[in-house]
Amino acid sequence: MLRGSYARPDRCANPANKLFSNNTYLSGRRNKIHDKNAKLVSDVENLVSVEACLGTEDSCIDFTHGEKPLRFEVLSVLQQLKDAASQHGYDIAVASGYRSFAQQLHIWNAKAKGERPVLDSEEREIARELMSPGDIMFAILRWSALPGASRHHWGTDFDIYDRAAMPPDYSLQLTVAETQAGGVFASMYQWLDTFLQSNSLGFYRPYARDTGGIAPEPWHMSYQPLAVHYQHVLNIDVLARQIQATDIVFKREILQNLDEIYHRFVLPPIS
Ligand SMILES: [Zn+2]
Repeated sequence: MLRGSYARPDRCANPANKLFSNNTYLSGRRNKIHDKNAKLVSDVENLVSVEACLGTEDSCIDFTHGEKPLRFEVLSVLQQLKDAASQHGYDIAVASGYRSFAQQLHIWNAKAKGERPVLDSEEREIARELMSPGDIMFAILRWSALPGASRHHWGTDFDIYDRAAMPPDYSLQLTVAETQAGGVFASMYQWLDTFLQSNSLGFYRPYARDTGGIAPEPWHMSYQPLAVHYQHVLNIDVLARQIQATDIVFKREILQNLDEIYHRFVLPPIS
């Protein structure tokens, strides 16, 4: 179902409408919301469709209540995280939320065709004229997910920064340097590290460390109680079918290397 449609399938209509119809999301009764959320999460258990997992169906995504589109349930818990951070002077903002398969495909094809730069692990542009299509494909995967395999397709994952620490005219980069000692967002990340250890609200950072696949992304947050269900739906066969049916650059290289791609870049670490 496409964005903007008012008809929603039953699997997310009732919980979401309940959550927002009595305006509790905006009213500040957030402890209650968290309790409700546990119920909502159990309601959607085992109801994640293959299409929602691949980002080709977005009926459970809320495009109107948050800074960026996310699943209904995630928005309410995110507000609790924002409230906790604001007590320490941080203004957690979302740089990127839900992203559709079509959007990810556009990014992928632009990089694969050389219309957008492809960076190496040191964030330098690769010399693509010296590289094979397969090598370019793996270089793209270091920084960009294979369409269909992005956690941003799920509406459970999002990228954050501290809006309160942004100097005027600062252009957000989402680099590791911004998050580390001396970086513009270092203080918020220090607080976040401690917060996630003590009261995570269900959030965790799947790409906090370099595991040799996707480059570290400390800004990438995931709402695990929901994300885990998408994780169970996503497998190599689902991905292979979707790539087969898609007009994607490097299709042959992707399908030839799908096993390695899946195990290095898709299987998300669970912490
Ligand atoms: Zn991200």
